[in-house]
Amino acid sequence: MVSVRWTGAAGLEIAHEGAVYLMDPYVSRPGKAAVFFKRLVSRREAVAGFLKDLPGSLKAVMVGHTHFDHALDVPVIAEMAAARVVGSRSLDVLLEAFGMHGRVTVCRGGERVVLDDQAAVTMLPGRHGRVLLGRIPYPGEIVPPLEPPLKVREYRHGQVFNMLLELGGMRLLHVGSADVDDAVLQGQGSDVLFLCVSGWRFAPDLVPRVLSRVQPKTIVPFHFDDFTTPLAPGAQVPDLPLLHKDLFLKQLACHAPQARVIWPKVNQVMRF
Ligand SMILES: [Zn+2]
Repeated sequence: MVSVRWTGAAGLEIAHEGAVYLMDPYVSRPGKAAVFFKRLVSRREAVAGFLKDLPGSLKAVMVGHTHFDHALDVPVIAEMAAARVVGSRSLDVLLEAFGMHGRVTVCRGGERVVLDDQAAVTMLPGRHGRVLLGRIPYPGEIVPPLEPPLKVREYRHGQVFNMLLELGGMRLLHVGSADVDDAVLQGQGSDVLFLCVSGWRFAPDLVPRVLSRVQPKTIVPFHFDDFTTPLAPGAQVPDLPLLHKDLFLKQLACHAPQARVIWPKVNQVMRF
């Protein structure tokens, strides 16, 4: 059995037989004032607490793209844990800026990276979705010179990946931004699809395009929480505006009537 905790934004903590794998871990959740007006700083104590509470030994950190809500905490995690880091050239440049040279297994799209004796991830080339005002935010590569802490606009998205993790006999597909490359997804089956909700209406026919190619048994919509809101114990995390959740769910039911749909709460653990 594989257990997956949605940790907010596009973050997944995936555990199987004492091993843990992270996708797009995002713990610090800087507030709006920091995001819009300041440089972004990882909350080191929160990250240390997050790592201490993992349900096993951390094997790998995989990053789908390098916007701050996917990559902000990766340098601190890489510094604190000996785990393998898998991502783009931009992620490598980011970690270099934090003093970690050569730490990233750099992928350009299509590589299958064996993480250990039970897990492998294929970094499928993807596309970034459109969000505010129908625009793709902060496109392009992260380039030096960089002087951390960085501003939001320095976290360019870099190469975008859809990450397909094979683990415990399951195939988990992470679509962390609301667009895909149809040709790449063609024929890539998955057992569980994690599908970004934020911005889904800007990618025409996103839901049928993904579902017809991937044919998941279970669909977990995610990345719909307001990721500039800190997590407080017991408090509800507000959703992002303009999600059109009912319409999204209707489309899932229409285009994948056999699939189970789990609309998770932040920090909810799911077992597959
Ligand atoms: Zn993004």
